Amino acid sequence: MGIPEERVDRLAALARDAVAEGHEDRAREYVRLARRIAERNRLTLPRSFRRFTCDACDTYLLPGRNARVRLQDGHVVVRCDCGETARYPYD
Ligand SMILES: [Zn+2]
Repeated sequence: MGIPEERVDRLAALARDAVAEGHEDRAREYVRLARRIAERNRLTLPRSFRRFTCDACDTYLLPGRNARVRLQDGHVVVRCDCGETARYPYD
């Protein structure tokens, strides 16, 4: 893993911790920074990063805290507190 990948990983962990501690604005800054790093370095963000970040408001999604996860028709449906929902095939 290169340096940019490590930074993205680290920012994802920081964002998760920030949400857990109730600092969502800080989490958004970490998520946005990680996205910028990925873009600048032409990285594909890890699947876990894409699934646990909200496309609408950029927060890190922590089920039970600011996100609701349910299963529907073989899909995982994740709803952010901002109202955005994302669906993924169940795997
Ligand atoms: Zn959201």
